[in-house]
Amino acid sequence: TVRVRFCPSPTGNPHVGLVRTALFNWAYARHNGGTLVFRIEDTDAARDSEESYEQLLDSMRWLGFDWDEGPEVGGPHAPYRQSQRMDIYRDVATRLQDAGHAYPCYCTTEELDARREAARAAGRPSGYDGKCRDLTDEQKQAYEAEGRSHIVRFRMPDEATTFTDLVRGEITVQAENVTDYGIVRANGAPLYTLVNPVDDALMEITHVLRGEDLLSSTPRQIALYKALIELGVAKTTPQFGHLPYVMGEGNKKLSKRDPQASLNLYRERGFLPEGLLNYLSLLGWSFSADQDVFTIDQMIAKFDLADVNSNPARFDLKKAEAINADHIRMLDVKAFAAACEPWLRAPHAPWAPEDFDAAVWEAIAPHAQTRLKVLSEITDNVDFLFLPEPVFDEASWTKAMKEGSDALLRTAREKLAAADWSSAESLKEAVLAAGEAHGLKLGKAQAPVRVAVTGRTVGLPLFESLEILGKDATLTRVDAALA
Ligand code: GLU
Repeated sequence: TVRVRFCPSPTGNPHVGLVRTALFNWAYARHNGGTLVFRIEDTDAARDSEESYEQLLDSMRWLGFDWDEGPEVGGPHAPYRQSQRMDIYRDVATRLQDAGHAYPCYCTTEELDARREAARAAGRPSGYDGKCRDLTDEQKQAYEAEGRSHIVRFRMPDEATTFTDLVRGEITVQAENVTDYGIVRANGAPLYTLVNPVDDALMEITHVLRGEDLLSSTPRQIALYKALIELGVAKTTPQFGHLPYVMGEGNKKLSKRDPQASLNLYRERGFLPEGLLNYLSLLGWSFSADQDVFTIDQMIAKFDLADVNSNPARFDLKKAEAINADHIRMLDVKAFAAACEPWLRAPHAPWAPEDFDAAVWEAIAPHAQTRLKVLSEITDNVDFLFLPEPVFDEASWTKAMKEGSDALLRTAREKLAAADWSSAESLKEAVLAAGEAHGLKLGKAQAPVRVAVTGRTVGLPLFESLEILGKDATLTRVDAALA
């Protein structure tokens, strides 16, 4: 059976790389009828915060993820927050030392830096040189007497590591490139290098799917696993699969600090979770050669690691928006209207709450649904319906109100006054006829009408908009523009 995990550190706003990792693990678990373990890697008290933890959970829920074991749902390997598992790590660290797989290292940072520099200068590998590997008890006592503190270092075997990455195929790393590494800090705090594989072992994780940035820690973890198996802590070594890098602007790795990387940005702009996940799934995976819009259920049904590509994936905001627009159109209109709710209220909406009219909203919603890329665009698209007067921007006004537009508007007003207001088609004919009277095509003729009524040169289908706004308000606005 498949047991995968999603194990972020709560150190700030979740970023899209993290979400992609969560998504692939979730899809893999769901596709295989497996178990998704959600673990919180909060052993770094200086960087982790309760607020980030809450935010992380909230984000995962918003995205629609569920997990079989973890915070809020519990499970047989609880607790799932590493900050509550410190005794376990302390115990394993002791057993690793007792068995000779790890040892106290008394080297100071200055000493390590100096030796690393010297090794570099001499063209030798610059990892840990093994100075404290085989200290005698006397040597240890002497260091202690000097008042030195020590970290705990894991002893890497002197042999190359070969493993088959589920995405990248066979990988071999030479021993000199993976030297002994710290697993416990001088203050006794266990490090990621220890706690992550220990928990993967205890939680019986079968597949570790994570970002390529962690590829270099895999040979270390495989060696640690061997030791853990020997100690009876682990049963087997999981399989590893490293998901490709995500590249941002200028073909640079998308960094956590990149504004485009922040999940909150997508939430605030009104991406649908399904739209965002659909897009993120394409970062390193493909559904089929000729289809890139699909539902989450379709993704799960098709998700296979064999289709994950090892080439870096390029993050493309435009494509993300286009896919989101498709997902907006896929909603039934009621769900669409409900999803827009937050953007129809303060602080987004510029109109007074009492000026909002639910019937008007219901009438306009279907026309808006086919035009939005992100939900936050709804506010500007419908504000003319709920504000006493349209908001004019200088540029739109100048663009539409050219010479002759007054005459056109006057004719349009006459024709509109005589039109059948129960039919958008009749309103269109009115403006079309006004245009003809002035030698203008419909597009040119409707521009000043649109700006007079909505304040903008672009927007929802004009004649449906006029019909919904109503005859009185429309004519009053045209008059105001003429005044
Ligand atoms: N807590 C680690 C991170 O957020 C997990 C890495 C891993 O998946 O092994 O980077």
